Amino acid sequence: MTDTDTFQTLLRLAEPWFIAGIDIDPAGEAMHVCIDFRRDARFACPQCGALAEVYDRAEERVWRHLDLWQCETWLHCRLPRVRCEVHGVRQVGTPWAEPGSRLSSAFEARVIDTVLACQTVKGACALLRLKWDQVNAVMALLTAM
Ligand SMILES: [Zn+2]
Repeated sequence: MTDTDTFQTLLRLAEPWFIAGIDIDPAGEAMHVCIDFRRDARFACPQCGALAEVYDRAEERVWRHLDLWQCETWLHCRLPRVRCEVHGVRQVGTPWAEPGSRLSSAFEARVIDTVLACQTVKGACALLRLKWDQVNAVMALLTAM
């Protein structure tokens, strides 16, 4: 099993997604995991669910994910956009994060658990190495449920 296979399993990435590469910064403080998708993949239109071919790729986006050892882990991907016959060109969502979020779903769950354990947003910010507004945005999602 290669490193990318291991990380693909840990991230629970399924076809057509795969890990194209992993880079650790020279100081060993951050790991960057590049996610890609098979070129012949078809994705569901986010509006109607119809399968459509990939039209192009959006600009690279980055999501904070759960730290691994002492490294902050960042997921990078140029998400596919599909051309739906009814809705035109639409951005596809990810299996690892909610639309519009800069944090993976797993990291958002960690934020919630940490705030609940700390009883303060400030304490969670220090433990998670996040800014107050990032933690507060996740907690706002929780209260909206
Ligand atoms: Zn559609």
